Amino acid sequence: MRMRCFSCHTLSLTVLCNKCRYELFKPTIKIRQIGTLSVVSFYRYSTIESLLLSKHKPEGFRIFKYLAKITTEPFVEKFLSESDSSINIIGVDEKVKNGYSHVACLTKHMKRDRSTVLHSSLISQNSINYAGKSLQYRMNNPRDFSYSGFSDIDAILVDDIITTGITLQEAERTLRQSGVNVLFALTIADAKE
Ligand SMILES: [Zn+2]
Repeated sequence: MRMRCFSCHTLSLTVLCNKCRYELFKPTIKIRQIGTLSVVSFYRYSTIESLLLSKHKPEGFRIFKYLAKITTEPFVEKFLSESDSSINIIGVDEKVKNGYSHVACLTKHMKRDRSTVLHSSLISQNSINYAGKSLQYRMNNPRDFSYSGFSDIDAILVDDIITTGITLQEAERTLRQSGVNVLFALTIADAKE
């Protein structure tokens, strides 16, 4: 299918043309520590903001699938190649909006022989919008996650963006209380520049 590059608008077979993918959108792995949780991210938020904002639109489905192929998919392949054990993948709040869940697009591509994706197993009971809100506000209005997946497992937690890290910390706490050992979290972008 012929389409235009999301970034530079030249004709392209994929969401990003090769030039944009390898020059502008080359992932750079970064690790941020939030309490006991290590959070791995692939991009600075400002680099990838236009692509991430597509989650509010139907075409975000195609864009998040593409992002998974250049970030979470190669990451989990490398992770499994360096490990003998099995791993579970848990997306943060895989709720369907505009016909898809953008986080589920990221986790779906992490399914391999030794990795299991526990889709929609960690869902927030409080869907209040955090955008532009202070850390204090976020702390006063927790996500209140409920977990319906397996216990006594190792897992990688996945979300699209890390801002303050409050949501990921709360997700980690809920999972730990349910007997899930969260190895680390994986996000596409880190909003802390
Ligand atoms: Zn381009």
